[in-house]
Amino acid sequence: MRILVLGGSSEASLLAKALSPRADVAATLSLAGRTKNPVALPLPTRVGGFGGVEGLIAYLQAEGVKAVINATHPFAAQMKRHAAEACAATATPLCAFTRAPWVPEEGDRWIEADDAAAAARALGDAPKRVFLTTGRQQAGAFAGPSPHHFVLRSIDAPDPDALPASLDLVLARGPFSVADEIALMREKRIDIVVSKNAGGEATRAKIYAARELSLPVVMIRRPKTPDRPVFTKIEDVLGWIEAQRSAP
Ligand code: NAP
Repeated sequence: MRILVLGGSSEASLLAKALSPRADVAATLSLAGRTKNPVALPLPTRVGGFGGVEGLIAYLQAEGVKAVINATHPFAAQMKRHAAEACAATATPLCAFTRAPWVPEEGDRWIEADDAAAAARALGDAPKRVFLTTGRQQAGAFAGPSPHHFVLRSIDAPDPDALPASLDLVLARGPFSVADEIALMREKRIDIVVSKNAGGEATRAKIYAARELSLPVVMIRRPKTPDRPVFTKIEDVLGWIEAQRSAP
């Protein structure tokens, strides 16, 4: 059974490890190619966009894909839309594997925003030292004239043309410990944190650290996405794969 796993997340890594030893499924992992040195995973891997919905339709047909598991990051909204359209057009079963969003807990001081532009506005006019943890792709929303100083952390160097004027760049790949996050926020004298509501544990330490230091967090809500059903447990994904295999 040929399966396409749309990756770029810790869920995709988990699924790759679960599927690789199996002789009854032939799974391919697909990565967008954004990260220069992605962590190697034990599945045949293709890298790069498909060329929009039409390109993905052609790929599904050429490869005889029988099921697609969208395990892209919760904020990869375009890929999710494309997968939903291409799977509908080819009658290919599609499910999503993701993690639940974070919810504010006692001691959290969240200001929720619908997108990166709204998060930039939520910083207000009084100068602040901002820890920007949204990754380099959203940095452009914080570029341009601003009273704030930004500490931007990303895995790879961001596009130098779309950066805030007053900037410290921290190139690092998580996971980070709460102690490390507290130390960094203290060292950089951070007043406010900006985060996407990614969910999961891998990047959560900054949220615990902000709570510990009583810092506000501008939390960017997840984009709404069309893929259904959505699973958060790997056993449910594996069960869904079995159901597709036995479907007429
Ligand atoms: P996006 O905006 O939803 O997608 C933009 C385009 O990138 C898609 O139209 C598609 O190109 C290509 N693409 C995205 N995911 C792909 C995949 N798994 N395989 C092949 N092509 C893919 O995506 P994004 O937000 O830029 O994210 C890109 C990758 O980084 C994804 O794999 C995602 O899981 C990962 N990631 C994203 C975030 C985030 O915050 N957005 C965070 C961590 C990791 P075509 O139209 O040409 O097919």
